[in-house]
Amino acid sequence: MLDILNQDIQYLPGVGPKKRDMLQKELGISKISDLLEYYPYKYVDRSRIYTINELRSDMPFVQVKGRILGFEEFGSGPRKKRLVAHFTDGTGIADIVWFSGIKYATQQFKVNTEYIVFGKPTLYGGRYQFAHPDIDKAEDLQLSQMGMQPYYITTEKMKKAGLTSRSIEKITKAMLEKMNQPLPETLPPFIANRLRLVERDTALRHVHYPKTAEELQSARFRLKFEELFYVQLNILRYASDQKKKYRGYAFPRIGEIFNSFYSDHLPFSLTDAQKRVMREIRSDLGSGRQMNRLLQGDVGSGKTLVALMTMLIALDNGYQACIMAPTEILAEQHLATIREFLGDMDIRVELLTGIVKGKRRKTVLDGLASGSVDILVGTHAVIEDTVQFSKLGLVVVDEQHRFGVAQRARLWSKSQNPPHVLVMTATPIPRTLAMTIYGDLDVSVIDQLPPGRKPIVTIHKYNNQTTSLYSGIRQQIKEGRQVYIVFPLIKESEKLDIQNLEEGFEILKEVFPEFRLSKVHGKMKPAEKDEEMQKFVNGETQILVATTVIEVGVNVPNASVMVILNAERFGLSQLHQLRGRVGRGASQSYCILVTKPQLTNETRKRIDIMCDTNDGFLIAEADLKLRGPGDLEGTQQSGMAFDLKIADIARDGQIVQMAREEAQKIIEQDPECNKTENSMLWQRLAALRKTNVNWAAIS
Ligand code: ADP
Ligand code: MG
Repeated sequence: MLDILNQDIQYLPGVGPKKRDMLQKELGISKISDLLEYYPYKYVDRSRIYTINELRSDMPFVQVKGRILGFEEFGSGPRKKRLVAHFTDGTGIADIVWFSGIKYATQQFKVNTEYIVFGKPTLYGGRYQFAHPDIDKAEDLQLSQMGMQPYYITTEKMKKAGLTSRSIEKITKAMLEKMNQPLPETLPPFIANRLRLVERDTALRHVHYPKTAEELQSARFRLKFEELFYVQLNILRYASDQKKKYRGYAFPRIGEIFNSFYSDHLPFSLTDAQKRVMREIRSDLGSGRQMNRLLQGDVGSGKTLVALMTMLIALDNGYQACIMAPTEILAEQHLATIREFLGDMDIRVELLTGIVKGKRRKTVLDGLASGSVDILVGTHAVIEDTVQFSKLGLVVVDEQHRFGVAQRARLWSKSQNPPHVLVMTATPIPRTLAMTIYGDLDVSVIDQLPPGRKPIVTIHKYNNQTTSLYSGIRQQIKEGRQVYIVFPLIKESEKLDIQNLEEGFEILKEVFPEFRLSKVHGKMKPAEKDEEMQKFVNGETQILVATTVIEVGVNVPNASVMVILNAERFGLSQLHQLRGRVGRGASQSYCILVTKPQLTNETRKRIDIMCDTNDGFLIAEADLKLRGPGDLEGTQQSGMAFDLKIADIARDGQIVQMAREEAQKIIEQDPECNKTENSMLWQRLAALRKTNVNWAAIS
């Protein structure tokens, strides 16, 4: 290990304690190794210098080389003042303009010095001008070898203190010059050779200072692979340790309970996909090792039934089961669904959520401890320490997104052996993402909807088209259907949300005097909320006006229209979730996305995707591409590292796959982690685990 990697950056030329503190505070960079892995986010090809008479206003950032002829100031007062430098290269004159930092500019830049000015040319008053361009002395610009210039992310605070991308470039340059020994390799030759990866030393130098696009490409490939490879190696080793450490309960028996349910209580036959998934689950449960399975399936694909049947297998083998939902409403709905499915079967199903208090709570807790409660339905509060089961054999977690690895691990203390875990998610996770965050889970997919469902028709309307919107709603209700109208959450203020909803509700009551309307929002008392929901479920009201509390799980087959107001405020997966509330009955369903007329490109893309497809997997892929994994709901809580420094899960799917395969080979060949040819890998992994908080959390 090179000692220099651990050195404090303040001793680098041009840094010092002040800049060091700023870098530490803003970007977490304090050691050389941190800076080395602070990769540029983009590169600009600066190999070409344009002449002023070549400039055109549709050009992107370009550079010109010349001298300042003189300065002129215009206007007065802080807002109006601007400084103009007339600049020439002999082919014409261009203006450099500053609206702020004027004093600094006049001191910094001199007439008759050769500069390279880099910026976007715009035509103003018959002359090209560059506003706030990058300006370097021509003699300094071998800095980026005049090739690809790196750009580093900086914060507002840093910019104010003069710590720009350019300053970081200079510091990085000084750092690399100081490192006159090759940086240590972190991938063994057998991997590097097989995949034709450049050496780490080369990759790190080139990623900051590529001379050509090819150099950059191979440097980035090497670094991305390495990053993803160690993420995979970490997950797979964790999973393999887990399998070694914990025996699971074996549930070999399919008995009375399951069979009686299957033959006497199941109101329909399973879809082929449900059958396949049940087989996968049964084989896990019978194997004697702990099941950790992710069940993916689009909304309405029938995951709840699969969960219930899995729980019945646990009961058949003498164990209790528990199902956890992310919200109270959902838990209550699961309770109702399960009780209805089970009918008169002799199975005790109880609810445990925050609102179950006092004597009722005690009864449930006693029942769990004595074993008289067979199935517990609850919120995540179930994993509180006070809840003790007699013989917990299976935990079903609904909506994976809000339930990470760390929480799953807590479950294991609830029982002698860790209970089997089945995690259900209705927001399909793209394969590459699933591999990275839930790499320790086996995956089952229900890729088929129950028969008789008509695909939902999705329509985009502007908010000035209310007449046709209202008449469409009216028509549907006259045909006996029910309608959801969803108001968006305004993040800044819960008060405003409710106000928004209340006002909208009053307007809708006036628009539809002939119908009855319900209203539900997150701030209502649970009992009140239930009552309103129940009216809609029973068909007493025809329209349910709600915030996104109905997002997940709610099931009213007669509701065939989902109207989403201000749809531009929702993300793709949320829109898809909401849409999934309809299309559950036999009649044609509609989802109407209402937006303002002016939309950004990205919003338009989201709306178009929604109108084009009902396929949750396609939508999830698109979502990942549009937003990037860091923003995906729940990834922060997933317990896995998401501070990827260079790889991009959305774009580097192939590299994820390669990394996965390589890591898998290693784990298979060297399950005890003691083969000499791999020692470099295990050492590196141990070092990474020490420095990466997220990684340590799952070890
Ligand atoms: P998910 O939880 O996957 O969103 P649900 O389990 O809520 O889906 O199922 C949606 C609806 O489809 C429920 O009313 C359920 O009873 C019904 N359903 C489930 N499986 C089948 C099936 N094989 N055939 C017909 N209907 C089914
Ligand atoms: Mg569900």
